[in-house]
Amino acid sequence: MPLDFGTLQIASIVSRIAFTSVFLVTLLRHPREIYFAVWASALVSSLAASFLMLGDPPAVPLGAARGAVIYVLYGASLAVSWVGLRLFHERPLHLPLAVMLTLGPGLLYGGLMWLGVPVEWCFTVLFGILAVSTSLCAVEILRTPAKERLWTQYTVLSGFVGYTAVFLASILVIHFASERLAAPESGVYALLFDQWCGVFIQVGYLAMVSERAHVRISRLADTDPLTGLPNRRGLAAALDRRAATRNRALSGALLVIDIDHFKSINDTYGHESGDRVLADVAARLQNAMRADDIVARWGGEEFLAVLERADGAAAVIVAERLREAVSGRSFALDRGPVAVTVSIGASLVAAGEAKIDAAVARADAALYAAKRDGRNRAVLNLPEPAPQARGRVA
Ligand code: GH3
Ligand code: MG
Ligand code: MG
Repeated sequence: MPLDFGTLQIASIVSRIAFTSVFLVTLLRHPREIYFAVWASALVSSLAASFLMLGDPPAVPLGAARGAVIYVLYGASLAVSWVGLRLFHERPLHLPLAVMLTLGPGLLYGGLMWLGVPVEWCFTVLFGILAVSTSLCAVEILRTPAKERLWTQYTVLSGFVGYTAVFLASILVIHFASERLAAPESGVYALLFDQWCGVFIQVGYLAMVSERAHVRISRLADTDPLTGLPNRRGLAAALDRRAATRNRALSGALLVIDIDHFKSINDTYGHESGDRVLADVAARLQNAMRADDIVARWGGEEFLAVLERADGAAAVIVAERLREAVSGRSFALDRGPVAVTVSIGASLVAAGEAKIDAAVARADAALYAAKRDGRNRAVLNLPEPAPQARGRVA
């Protein structure tokens, strides 16, 4: 199938105009996502270069002056893409390096051509600097810790790795197969590949921004803002995730932890101090638990801990440790230290119980007993036989 250079140039221009307008419209709706403005300017810069090259025959080296202008525009499009990626990842900008990568390709190409340096060396310098820009873009994505890396970032990564590979391969081709450089089809393939990588990158940018927004929104919806602990929704999601990897029903213990006489803390010290106590209690509970146990804010001044694979004896030990973590040290409020205690109801998740609701109800009953028996204590409610098995722990 013959590929027509001019048609490819137009197709590439049209696709970049489309992406530029999508970026600008998105920016209008979300002005804080400034990287869209940066990526749009990168596209405008490469569009300007493409317009200047419209009608040029493929694979004929540009002269010094035209080369300088056109390759400054190409250099800018890649360097500015890199700036956009740093903004997206909330990393500090390196403006001097960005300016060098913008001006370097064009000015060095133009300067070397003007000095009469052989054209293969002019291209080597040009492609070398462009490869630095594209590999910096790839590095920005790889620098993100694997756990936080978005899947859609790999689309962008593949585009920049593709560009880097082509720039480096071009240097080899120039030096070891220079007759290929003059072949018109090499220009066609270069443009085709440019378009291919470009589309991966631009589509990847859009997908990456939307994936990150999605992750952040669901994290927000799953987290209690005051304590930073998972809320009920977050706990359910965490249990679902574990169930999916575990492939068997949850087994373990539940603890319902309720702050004693919390209303009087609010009444005496004010709601803000109450909030601070809640956040501190949450932090102490979390610090006193194993990393793979979950503690969530279950309600107003109530927390729920899920201890996987814990039996009754382990549940009692953990409950006692949590109780001690709160009552062992007073809480510093503006009006001085205040002692806070918690009551804890514990239950076991019975074998075959798909949901934790029944176990939570049993832990609630145990909590009620702990309150009734004087507070600042933990009570374990064994699933069966119900009344006799209830053992006081503290
Ligand atoms: P008990 O020992 O029986 O648990 O007594 P209590 O006072 O802790 O229990 P009660 O259910 O009577 O009161 C709970 C209080 O927790 C009432 C509510 O205003 C307060 N509360 C719930 N959520 C928050 C919150 O986010 N911040 C603050 N400051 N207070 C809260
Ligand atoms: Mg309470
Ligand atoms: Mg309560």
